[in-house]
Amino acid sequence: MKEAIRQARKAEAIEEVPIGCVIEREGKIIARGYNRRNIDHSVLKHAEITAIQKACRKLGDWRLEDCTLYVTLEPCQMCAGAIVQARIPRVVIGAMNPKAGSAGSVINLLQMREFNHQAEIEKGVMEEDCSALLSHFFAELRRKKAKGTDHDRQ
Ligand SMILES: [Zn+2]
Repeated sequence: MKEAIRQARKAEAIEEVPIGCVIEREGKIIARGYNRRNIDHSVLKHAEITAIQKACRKLGDWRLEDCTLYVTLEPCQMCAGAIVQARIPRVVIGAMNPKAGSAGSVINLLQMREFNHQAEIEKGVMEEDCSALLSHFFAELRRKKAKGTDHDRQ
């Protein structure tokens, strides 16, 4: 999760919402990703999708059956869908996302019996660090916006 947080900081450095992800296999990190939605103008550029793509490329397989995915924020419905499709057996989550989380907050797509695959979920890993990263980012954004408004008035 420490490395996932490091990835999230990369997103923060380019003014993206700080979300980071790594995929581990046999004790080694095989793929990393961070949110690049704005900079790449793509809704697909979530940290998890990028990491899944890299892991698939590395293993030469769309199945990531022996892998654990670590992500700083609870996956959205798109990423949870990709996790199920890639058959990732274990997902470790930092902070939960009550507004869009699809690993238990809004819906739990990772553990629906109706699908052919379910993932084990571990929540709250380094939760404080993961959510502090996000709250700091949004506070900073609000501060910048407020400053911008003052500037407009002058
Ligand atoms: Zn997502």
